[in-house]
Amino acid sequence: MHLDTITAADIAWQQQALCAQTGADFFFPEPGSSVREAKRICGMCEMRSACLEYALNNDERFGVWGGLSEKERLGLRRTEQN
Ligand code: SF4
Repeated sequence: MHLDTITAADIAWQQQALCAQTGADFFFPEPGSSVREAKRICGMCEMRSACLEYALNNDERFGVWGGLSEKERLGLRRTEQN
């Protein structure tokens, strides 16, 4: 993503993101580590839809976004392409 293409709407949801209060550690775990805690927090986050949309639009490859792991987002992409 190019910095000059980031709009205010792109980042407005991040100001209300629940993960902003917990820190990024849960959301970018070491390979093979559990993402259960991140998903639990995402489940309580009102910005979940905006977060997932942002991740899909910006091809975020790593971490948990919008309650979905990397593999789950990849699966969603593949489903949408078919
Ligand atoms: S859905 Fe999860 S990753 Fe996205 S902003 Fe909310 S807490 Fe953070």
